Parts: sequence; structure tokens; C-alpha cells
Amino acid sequence: MDLELSESELAFQAEARAWLAANVPAEPLPSMDTAEGWALHQEWEARLAADRWSVVSWPRDYHGRDASLIEWVIFEEEYYRAGAPGRVSQNGIFLLAPIIFEHGTKDQQDRFLPTMATGEEIWAQCWSEPEAGSDLASLNSTARRDDGRGGWVLNGQKTWSSRATYATWGFGLFRSDPEAARHHGLTYFLFPLDADGVTVRPIAQLDGEAGFAEVFFDDVFVPDADVLGAPGDGWRVAMSTAGNERGLSLRSPGRFCAAADRLVDLYRSSAVEVRGAPAPSLETSDVGKNVVDAWLKAEAYRLYTWGTVTRLADGGEMGAAGSVNKVWWSELDIALHETALDLLGTDAELDSTWLDGYTFALSGPIYAGTNEIQRNIIAERILGLPREPKGAQR
Ligand SMILES: Cc1cc2nc3c(=O)[nH]c(=O)nc-3n(C[C@H](O)[C@H](O)[C@H](O)COP(=O)(O)OP(=O)(O)OC[C@H]3O[C@@H](n4cnc5c(N)ncnc54)[C@H](O)[C@@H]3O)c2cc1C
Repeated sequence: MDLELSESELAFQAEARAWLAANVPAEPLPSMDTAEGWALHQEWEARLAADRWSVVSWPRDYHGRDASLIEWVIFEEEYYRAGAPGRVSQNGIFLLAPIIFEHGTKDQQDRFLPTMATGEEIWAQCWSEPEAGSDLASLNSTARRDDGRGGWVLNGQKTWSSRATYATWGFGLFRSDPEAARHHGLTYFLFPLDADGVTVRPIAQLDGEAGFAEVFFDDVFVPDADVLGAPGDGWRVAMSTAGNERGLSLRSPGRFCAAADRLVDLYRSSAVEVRGAPAPSLETSDVGKNVVDAWLKAEAYRLYTWGTVTRLADGGEMGAAGSVNKVWWSELDIALHETALDLLGTDAELDSTWLDGYTFALSGPIYAGTNEIQRNIIAERILGLPREPKGAQR
């Protein structure tokens, strides 16, 4: 692994840094889980796309820059260092788009990728169901063949769909062959969330905002043109990106390194300037040690990610290593925020950046596959420990 950037990578970094310095909103945008925040985030996505910064690793034909994986990581580092807004389009661009590139038809690529890149259409991931979370393949929502109309009829319920409250399209798996073994009878569908028969019911989060929704399907017709991959092959199609979600695309290190730098700044300023007391010692106080520890762990994640992208660029695969990243970044996020709240003391109530970040960090060990499941994967596939006994799945 070479940590020295090439000349072209340095030029790319400088261009990104300059653009972000000139364009990142001076004030943080309101939460994307509110109607006002949603509209402002969509505006931001459009601005990014206008100058080809919304999907740098995509081909030029689809608003991208043909950037390499390493350039993508460089961009992410710059993005978070500049304090740029969270991406409201993230489920589409990081989870769905790679599948459309790999398994989608040309027609699907042309119809869906450009509006995803500009943020005109925001996509919600409709995978989880009330009885199918960790054990996703036990899902019960169905797809019935309708030859007359040339498509499928969807019924059932999805839940915990992030951003579905305001999103316009959804993607999810449905059981299209009840006779097939559970992983084999699933098909991957794309559907507008305002289609006849779709009901989106918002769910309030800890902060009261409707960051999630339940999505109900009541005889919803989806034409063949909106089936992604082959019918019955949905599991394989979906899993082709799940490892990347956990291991790279959804949570690039820039996000945590920027938070770690802000934590160090907070350590320097909060004790001395805001609260008027001497700074707690880095060597002896628990909170000081926690600042150092969290910063080092963010840097370790950064270096590990550089190793991962080098491996992927050389033709390697993410595989089960994505689970190691997932456990690491989710625990790191909590540690960063808990340490900040310790530093702020009672002032934490007044600091929405750290407080909101903390409430969101708490969900890290749950989404993108719970950490218990990731530890099972690490134990079985990386460490070679005995497999979980059959029937032990809940
Ligand atoms: C912030 C957030 C955003 C989300 N966004 C989306 C989204 O956009 N789209 C979507 O489809 N879903 C989304 N989810 C849902 C998420 O994917 C599920 O919550 C997750 O997969 C766990 O499923 P579950 O909630 O049904 O818990 P369960 O699967 O019922 O698990 C409950 C507990 O049992 C443990 N457990 C289960 N099986 C085992 C086992 N075999 N061994 C050891 N422990 C086990 C789990 O780890 C967990 O601690 C989101 C969740 C959160 C918190």
C-alpha cells in the first residue's frame, strides 16, 4: 500500500478542496428528516451534481468523473473535512447504484442513474420487514406474476425504511416463488413510492422527526422493466453490495476523522475557554485518554481503509472483511460522541451537533446488519470458528 498520493491524485484533491471551500454552506443544513431540511439537502445534491462532485466514481455519462476508488476516498476525506452536509441520496448512490451498474439493463441505467446523481429522485431501501431484519431471507412480502400486464403484483409490508417519508422511489426484495428454498425465490424490484397501492407511514425517531417509514404494498403493479436482475435471483443481486455497504461505501473514514479532529478541538477549547477550568490532562484524566484513543481509532480506520481500497483496486474482494469495518466504525462513532459529551458536561444539552450525532451513533451497531451478526460472520468466515447451530437464528 502506497500512502504517497500521485501527482494526479494530489491535483484531484486540490480541486475538490477548492470547490468545497467555495461551495459548502456556511451554516449546517437543518435535519434532512424535516420537510425544510429535505428540500435544502436536495438543493445541495443538485449543486454537487452541477459541478460533477455528487458521484465522482461514476462514469462521465452519468454525471461522474470516472474517479478511481482511491480518488473517491480522497474526495470523501475532503468532503467531511470541509463540514459538508450529510448525503440525503446516500442509500441510492451507495447501495442501489452499484447494483444498477452491475445487474441493471441499459434502459434502467439511463432512466435511474442521472436523476439519482442530481438528487431529483431520492431512493429508500425497503429491505427490512417486521419479522425479517437480521434474518432477511425470512421475508414474507410477495410478488405474484401477472403475465397479462407483463409484470408483477406486490403485497406485504416493509419497515425501518430510512428517508422513505420524503423519498420518491424504493428498492426491495419480494418473495416471487413460494416453493423455492428461501434464498432462491426472491426478486429485486424498483417502485415509485407514490404508485397505486403503496402507503408510506412515517415513524418518528428518538428526536421526534420522521426519519423512517413503514411501507405497505396492496396489489402494487411493477412492470418487468423495473425488475433488477433476473426474477428469483434477488438475493444474489442484493448481496453483491451488502459487504461494500458495511465495509466501505456507506461510512468512509473521512466522516470519523473529521469528527475526531473536531473532538480534539473541543478538548482544547472546552476546558480552557468555555468552562474556564484547566484542560484535563491527556495522560492522566479518563476523558483525555478517551480523546487520544478515539482519535487513534479514527486514524486506524483511515489507514485500514486505504489498505482495503488498494486491495480492491488490485482486483481483490471485500468479502467478510466488511464486517470488521462495520463493527469498528460503529463502535468508534459512539466513542467519539460519548467522549465529546463527557467534555461538554451539562453544556452538551446546548450543542446539537454532538448531541444529534450521539443519538444517531447509537443506531450504528444496528443498521447495515447488527454487530452481533457481524461478529458471527467474523467468527465463522474469518476466524474459522464453528458455525452457529442450525435453528439458532431467531
Ligand atoms: C438508523 C437505522 C436505519 C435503518 N435503515 C433501514 C433502511 O433504510 N432500510 C431497511 O430496510 N432497514 C433499515 N434499518 C433496519 C435494520 O436493517 C434492522 O434493524 C437490522 O437489520 C436488525 O433487524 P431487526 O431490527 O429486525 O432486529 P432482529 O433481527 O430482530 O434482532 C434483534 C436482536 O437479536 C440479535 N440477533 C438476531 N439474530 C441473531 C443471531 N443469529 N445471533 C446473534 N444475535 C442475533 C440482533 O443482533 C439484535 O441485537 C435501519 C435501522 C436503523 C437502526
